[in-house]
Amino acid sequence: MFTSAFLKPFHYITILIIIITIFISCFFIPTISEDYVKFLNSYTIEISNKGYAWPSPGYTKINSYFGKRESPTAGATSYHKGIDIAAPEGAYFVAIADGVITYTGFLGGGGYTITLTTYNNLKVTYCHVSPYFIVAENQNVLQGEVIGKVGPKYIENIEGNQYKDETGKQTNGATTGAHLHLGVRTQNNEYVNPLQLFSDIIE
Ligand SMILES: [Zn+2]
Repeated sequence: MFTSAFLKPFHYITILIIIITIFISCFFIPTISEDYVKFLNSYTIEISNKGYAWPSPGYTKINSYFGKRESPTAGATSYHKGIDIAAPEGAYFVAIADGVITYTGFLGGGGYTITLTTYNNLKVTYCHVSPYFIVAENQNVLQGEVIGKVGPKYIENIEGNQYKDETGKQTNGATTGAHLHLGVRTQNNEYVNPLQLFSDIIE
């Protein structure tokens, strides 16, 4: 067997680099999907009496209700057209009913937003979500299917984004921190209290 005394140290370095790369990726790459798979295997969907799935499995605390309120941050409305669910950044949320994804993108005060249009023509908006969209526009989704993750408070480099906090950093729409804003509009674009659909789940 011929082994070059000159090349030998380079072999060791190459092997070492490969081993280190595999070792590091064991920590990072699978963690994301493992976390997702774990969630998919463990979450339970709560269906209300009216037949809608609660959007954020495991999180039912409401930080801000539908209707009149004091504006919590510059640019946020004093008439709240939805509810704010206290779900942390990264929490998965689901389709409340079967329907079609009709919007994914950045939508002013809503920040990164996903709109689900249900087959009975409700427009359901999920705001301040993660920009790494799980679903795409025109995709059909089933009730209880995971369609997104709660986004971070801060985002960067969105052209025309006027929303920032007191530190001057751009925020994910008009928001004071990570949460899930859920809005429900009827066929004639009238905002209704989303809790009407979940009155037996959230009082
Ligand atoms: Zn809100």
